[in-house]
Amino acid sequence: MRYAENIADLVGHTPLVKLNRVTAGATEATVLAKVEYLNPGGSVKDRIASRMIDAAERDGLLRPGGTIVEPTSGNTGVGLALVAQQRGYRCIFVVPDKFGEEKRNVLAAYGAEVVVTPTSVAPDSPESYYGVSDRLAREIPGAFKPNQFANPNGPRAHYETTGPEIWQDTEGRVTHFVAGIGTGGTITGTGRYLREVSGDRVRVIGADPEGSVYSGGTGRPYFVEGVGEDMWPDTYDPAVPNEVLAISDADSFRMTRRLAREEGLLVGGSSGMAVAAALQAAKGASPADVFVVLLPDGGRGYLGKIYNDKWMRAYGFGNAPSGHSVADLLA
Ligand code: PMP
Repeated sequence: MRYAENIADLVGHTPLVKLNRVTAGATEATVLAKVEYLNPGGSVKDRIASRMIDAAERDGLLRPGGTIVEPTSGNTGVGLALVAQQRGYRCIFVVPDKFGEEKRNVLAAYGAEVVVTPTSVAPDSPESYYGVSDRLAREIPGAFKPNQFANPNGPRAHYETTGPEIWQDTEGRVTHFVAGIGTGGTITGTGRYLREVSGDRVRVIGADPEGSVYSGGTGRPYFVEGVGEDMWPDTYDPAVPNEVLAISDADSFRMTRRLAREEGLLVGGSSGMAVAAALQAAKGASPADVFVVLLPDGGRGYLGKIYNDKWMRAYGFGNAPSGHSVADLLA
């Protein structure tokens, strides 16, 4: 019989799929998408969750019956909850109230406890997202805070898994790697591995929302979720990417919708952003070039936003391909 011992053992080994329609006329290169929403928790973050927990157990920071406390509202929380549940840890996630109820409900469905904090307080206030998570981590006996923006096991997870998977699946023919930058763990770990293993032949390209610090901005607000920053986290090594491209929300969302409609890939906005950057970088590339672009999560969490015409119009992104042409005709 062929089966996994438990769901957490199914993290990683995600497939590559060739993009066909969005690349037509845009580049001669082969562009392969690494589909991270096929991880059991639905995102690339499952990879770092399992590594951060493994390392904390090894270092004695997390013991049987312990509690994981992390300020997160999204994918990292799901990954941590899934692994924690399999190993009998309690999970407490601190979530700012600006995040939708749906996201909190997902965390609760996995058995995590969710503490909601007000968004409208200063970051250094004890009531803030950071303040509350620090206090819980300090006061709960046996608590461990993975701290994904500073934990070296994030980039390490990608150095040990994502990078080698891409190298093996392309039989060493990958020439470019493109990924968005949030904590920077994905691009730092995967990019470093691919540059090393290829004798610095693989070119690493970061994708960043216009306005974020990684592409020279100040942290100006943007709508694409999970990427971009207004500070420089320890998990990002700016020496790894050969270049970082700034991509507008409008371009990210337009490509996100095209991936769903034309490639059958229902993905989140950071995936559209990464593909938009990949196509920009691949303009003029040769047919021998093999671009690998990482798609961090699926699109179900964005049905009310990127895939909703009303939301898109309200925020000025109304020129993206519509999902509702019959309704538009009848309107
Ligand atoms: N996209 C999404 C949807 C994410 O949740 C994240 C993680 N914050 C990223 C991209 C970026 O990944 P990383 O933190 O490894 O840079």
